[in-house]
Amino acid sequence: MKEKLTIALVAHDNRKADMVDWVKYNAEYLSKHHLVCTGTTGGLIQEAFNELGIPAEVQRMNSGPMGGDAEIAAMVVRHEVDLAVFLIDDLNPQPHEADIQMLLRQCRLHNVPIACNRISADLMISSKLWDDENYTPAAQSYVHFERE
Ligand code: PGA
Repeated sequence: MKEKLTIALVAHDNRKADMVDWVKYNAEYLSKHHLVCTGTTGGLIQEAFNELGIPAEVQRMNSGPMGGDAEIAAMVVRHEVDLAVFLIDDLNPQPHEADIQMLLRQCRLHNVPIACNRISADLMISSKLWDDENYTPAAQSYVHFERE
């Protein structure tokens, strides 16, 4: 499909260690793409690349609770995001729950692949479909279903 993807990376506080570990594990791959992150997640990801000595393109939006998820959701609506990795803290309530649900909904609605755990993220970034010239994602159908 595209050579350089825009990949959104967002992690809640208790999931940031996992995100940094995942980014380090996939640093060579991720450094070839444009990364767009919520503020604090992006800062930690940039530090991880600096530690590894690998140059990377890390764009930082606002911090999540201050609207970073909403900014990334707006990019999704404009079809500026190809793939999202969103490590949500499912064990603690978040002040910006509405924005979290918005980002998830916009990714579903606009057919943007979104991984909410590491195994999904690994499977998504390693898919051969990214390089398949013949693959076009099917449009989603919202046809009203009539029961007999
Ligand atoms: P943060 O935002 O990276 O700025 O912490 C993430 C979030 O809480 O959505």
